[in-house]
Amino acid sequence: MDSKTPMLEVLRRIILEVNGARNLDAALSTMVRRIRKAMRTDVCSFYLFDTQLDRLVLMETIGLRTQAVGHVSLPVGEGLVGLVAQREEPLNLEDARAHPFFRYFETTGEERYSSFLGVPIIHQRRMLGVLVVQQSDKRRFDEADEAFLVTMAAQLAGVLAHALATGSLTRPSLPGGQATFTGVAASPGMAIGEAVVIAPPADLDSVPDLIPTDEEYEIARLKEAIGRVRDEIRAAGERLANRISAQELALFDVYQQMLGEAALSQEVVKRIREGQWAPGALADVVRRHVQYLERVNDDYLRERAADVRDLGRRVLAHLQEDTASTPAVYPDHTVLVSDEISVAMLGEVPRDKLAGIVSVRGSSTSHVAIVARAMGIPTVLGMVDLPLPRLNGARLVLDGHRGRLFVRPSPDIESHYEGLIEEERALAELLEHEQDLPSRTPDGHDVPLLVNTGLAVDAMASLKSRIGGVGLYRTEVPFMITERFPGEQEQTKLYREQLEGFAPLPVVMRTLDIGGDKDLPYFPIEEANPFLGWRGIRVTLDHPEVLMVQLRAMLRASQGLDNLRILLPMITNVDEVDDALRLLERAIRELGEDGVEVARPKVGVMLEVPATLYQLDALAERVDFFSVGSNDLTQYLLAVDRNNPRVADLYDACHPAVLSAMARLAREATALEMPISVCGELAADPAGALLLMGMGFDALSMNAPSLPKVRAAIRRVSQTSAQALVDEVLTESSPVGVRRRLEGRMHEWELSHLLPPKDA
Ligand code: PEP
Ligand code: MG
Repeated sequence: MDSKTPMLEVLRRIILEVNGARNLDAALSTMVRRIRKAMRTDVCSFYLFDTQLDRLVLMETIGLRTQAVGHVSLPVGEGLVGLVAQREEPLNLEDARAHPFFRYFETTGEERYSSFLGVPIIHQRRMLGVLVVQQSDKRRFDEADEAFLVTMAAQLAGVLAHALATGSLTRPSLPGGQATFTGVAASPGMAIGEAVVIAPPADLDSVPDLIPTDEEYEIARLKEAIGRVRDEIRAAGERLANRISAQELALFDVYQQMLGEAALSQEVVKRIREGQWAPGALADVVRRHVQYLERVNDDYLRERAADVRDLGRRVLAHLQEDTASTPAVYPDHTVLVSDEISVAMLGEVPRDKLAGIVSVRGSSTSHVAIVARAMGIPTVLGMVDLPLPRLNGARLVLDGHRGRLFVRPSPDIESHYEGLIEEERALAELLEHEQDLPSRTPDGHDVPLLVNTGLAVDAMASLKSRIGGVGLYRTEVPFMITERFPGEQEQTKLYREQLEGFAPLPVVMRTLDIGGDKDLPYFPIEEANPFLGWRGIRVTLDHPEVLMVQLRAMLRASQGLDNLRILLPMITNVDEVDDALRLLERAIRELGEDGVEVARPKVGVMLEVPATLYQLDALAERVDFFSVGSNDLTQYLLAVDRNNPRVADLYDACHPAVLSAMARLAREATALEMPISVCGELAADPAGALLLMGMGFDALSMNAPSLPKVRAAIRRVSQTSAQALVDEVLTESSPVGVRRRLEGRMHEWELSHLLPPKDA
């Protein structure tokens, strides 16, 4: 290793360069050169595992003969490179030629090199290639060298997986930019539409330093970007002219001046001439100005620092070319694509135009997935390899059952999906016929079906005759789309709409459950482990002013209706229940003092923290009902972050441990004579619902679009068969085994059509 620069610093620089490269070829070429330099060695090469050829192909080298690139290849298990790929372990040899696996390729000229260090490149358990350094004199690469190369390979893995997925590496096999991606199936259904990419705000701090290959080109694109920002600012100023004060309007002139020829732009041009590419030069200049402005002792100038940063970001956004901002008009079949989709973003697209949702982050029980399911929008999250900038405007086929996305699909794929979408529509129509019939098993057992809400009531009101009530109203959803905490009156109005809309059916309103992955833009919670942190009741008990307003609003809204139930989320300790109940009593008293007489509503707790499993009797003494949050219970029992796509495969409510916990909850609550229902996503899965029915839960609450399939399942399977199914699956020791059993039985009962479609 180059001993003067710390390894981390070298790594950081290489990674920035690789990520900032224009295309994969440039990235690979930069990388092998930098590694060779950093390790002071003679050769650095990269071999890609080509799955079609089933061979490792030399794709890039510095040190070996360039004629060999693309020509030299070897199967896994042959030669030293093949051995590294086969064992998926580093191989460090002082005298490579003495190794029995050594193979010599004349075209490479590698006979001169005796030392060899090769490391595999692995992404999500898949071997993608091998990275090799070689040296002519006998050199034992030391531990630091090996650690460095292993780290480089791990970094390269992500970049490569990305390139492979987009087809930018597997040359002719995917013509026309077609590509397929796999993520986490988050909301069922399929859609064909056009990608609208919502770009994250440009980040000046993550711009890498790169030497420009063509200064004039860099200057030209800088000027173009600045010109566009000036136009935008002019247009914004004109739009706001009548709505803001003259003083505020004057700011737009200040911006124009800042962007003018004499100021920022000239400095950036100078920096480009000194040897920085346009984004890097812009970031440098902006950083310098911001630092200066932040230091001066003048409020006005300090505020200008934020303006300079904002202008810098806007220019950068244009320099980063393909990033699109929110379109003025959404296409008819919009598939919203972003790094992370927020509930607020969903609200921006007219519902009748929103065909699907795709995001790099998130998983199946992320809250955006829950909202998407409630809205019935096919969704795939956790698309970690998605090349966002190149997707805008692309035609997409989205498969929310299997978590697939086809970019610029072939006509075959498109027509195949058209067929599937049609089948799904026909099934919905078929199920519609029995939706006004009771959710009663053939042996006469009633399983009330409730809905989870959070969005406006209007969409749900039509369901009133088909359901037993609202099993979970997630109050945080309306809180997420406002710009501040809604006031008592505002909340009262909101809750009144819900309560009135469903009266006389009961409506279970959950107190604010923020934290975890549910952030309010105006109340950010920054934590290392948000799901184990300040969440749900923990937040609201620490902020009694927020909880009191909410409780009072709920109570006020319930006046004369008598259908309010209150549910407490994230309960871990009985003290939390006692404290919340005290606040509720106080709210009732305060309203009474104001002349508003309300009855004390029934109160329940969510069973979602495993600790509650062991304190059911103490909880039962305090409350009137239990509601199992299987989403969180699964996450906490399995220690799997429900929001993390990397571990999405491990998150499964059909894990035998989760199911046996659920069965136990149903049994013990029944013994305690406490009503118990389930409001997690397991209840929305027809097979899951049958299991829960067999376990003895009193009611199931789910997103509205799932009602038809769950009702159809319940109407065809007797309670006794469901009980037998529970006994049967509880003998299984793995989630796969459970799923297999469930599928087998569903097939036997001729209910396969209610399960998510399998791969074609
Ligand atoms: C749950 O945890 O299962 C639940 C219903 O609540 P949420 O998904 O909102 O956390
Ligand atoms: Mg929960």
